[in-house]
Order: sequence, then C-alpha cells, then structure tokens
Amino acid sequence: MRVDIVSIFPEYFAPLDLSLIGKARANGTLRLAVHDLRTWTHDVHRTVDDTPYGGGPGMVMRPEPWGEALDALAPGELSPDGHTLPRLLVPSPAGVPFTQALAHELAAESHLLFACGRYEGIDQRVLDHAATRMPVTEVSLGDYVLFGGEVAVLVILEAVTRLLPGVLGNAGSLDEESHAHGLLEAPLYTKPASWRGLDVPEVLRSGDHARIDRWRRDESLLRTAARRPDMIGALAPETLDKRDRAT
Ligand code: SAM
Repeated sequence: MRVDIVSIFPEYFAPLDLSLIGKARANGTLRLAVHDLRTWTHDVHRTVDDTPYGGGPGMVMRPEPWGEALDALAPGELSPDGHTLPRLLVPSPAGVPFTQALAHELAAESHLLFACGRYEGIDQRVLDHAATRMPVTEVSLGDYVLFGGEVAVLVILEAVTRLLPGVLGNAGSLDEESHAHGLLEAPLYTKPASWRGLDVPEVLRSGDHARIDRWRRDESLLRTAARRPDMIGALAPETLDKRDRAT
C-alpha cells in the first residue's frame, strides 16, 4: 500500500519508523512518505493560514498550498474505476466516525493520501475540488477536538497497517480481538497463575478448550453489555446461540 501524508509538522511522524509499522515500511508492505505542506508555499514566511471569511476566532488553512500539494501527489483526473488516484482522507471532528469496519475498507485501498488540518481546519474548497477528482472522506476519531490531524493519522494508519497481509506475526489475532465480531475481547491472563493474591480463572488452566471458548464468549458478552450496550444492540440475532442469549 502507498501512503502519503501532508502536514505542517512532518516531525510528528517520526514514530512510524518503529515497531511493526517500521517493519512494514522496511519490507515494502507500506510505502510511506511524509510531505511538508510548506513545500507548496511561495512567500518568504511560507504562509499556510489566514483569517476566516465571515469572522470568528482562529485561522483557516489557505487553499493554494493544499491545492498544489494534492495536484503533485495525486496528478490526473478521476478514472472510471477511481483507481489511478488515491483516496483522500481528511481527519476532522466533523467527519464520519473511524471504526474497525472503516479500517478494513481502507486496508483494501492501494493508495491513501492524508491531509492534516491545523488551526480551525482547511478551506472547504480544497475538499470540494479534490472530490471532483478522487474519493474524499472526512474521518473523526471521536467526539472531542484535537490540535491537529497528525495524531489522528497516526491512529488511523496503525489500525489500517495491522490489517495488511503479512504485518501481524499471527494473523489469527485479528479474528479474536475486540471489534472483530461486534464484541469486546474477554479479559486476558498470563503467568504466574497467582499474583498478589489474585488467581487466573481456573477454566483457563483446565486445558478444556470447549470450556475455555465458552468462558471467553460469556465474558466477552458480559463485558460488552456492561461497557458498550450499543454494540450488543447492534448484534445480528442470528449470530447468537441459545447460551449467548442466556448470558
Ligand atoms: N474547527 C474545527 C471544528 O470545530 O470542527 C476543529 C479544528 S481542530 C482544532 C484542528 C484539526 O485537528 C482539524 O482540522 C483536524 O484535522 C484535527 N482534529 C481535531 N479533532 C479531531 C477529531 N476528533 N478527529 C479527527 N481529527 C481531528
């Protein structure tokens, strides 16, 4: 997968050399480039912002550097299958919620282009113009406001990269974790069996895999019901067996 990130703070992305993302970059699974938006400014101060039309607090990112950046990183017009151009992702608290389902959708793309907003955000015409050439999605990490899009891109990229084939040592992890099947994962334990007076549940030490599976399923349902009743409400009834309903 090719990924381009445009930001006025390229230094934010230094951690992308670490751990499994760093490995995915090193082995070519992820071809990632970070670009400084100010490369596409032409004044001595390398200005990227200005006051908002209509008044109000803060500054808005000017369209010209963004337009030039997108022209450079996504040249050309929209093809009938939309595949010669990247999918543009713009982090925004006003975007669609980022979910594991969206992470899967993005992991299937061949080229993602992230535009990191700062100040009050990016002039709307940048997104409207880009949308005439490529798919554009504004994505929100949650119902709160960050300083800028950089941290949001790190989160989105991490969630997407771990879904790329070959990135996780054990791909089975993806099938058993929170949000894989609309539930939260059951509690996890490792050695020692007893620690500070707290014991690992007996069933997990029993070696009885049918009992362990049932225990994990029950714990997963109970935890999801307690913490995320919205997720329980969204479960398809046909995915629940008789014991699930009793739990
Ligand atoms: N004026 C914007 C609003 O009220 O919707 C908030 C701008 S925020 C201070 C600056 C930038 O941070 C945004 O352009 C976006 O890139 C990023 N950002 C802030 N909160 C975010 C969130 N919840 N999800 C994704 N990106 C966010």
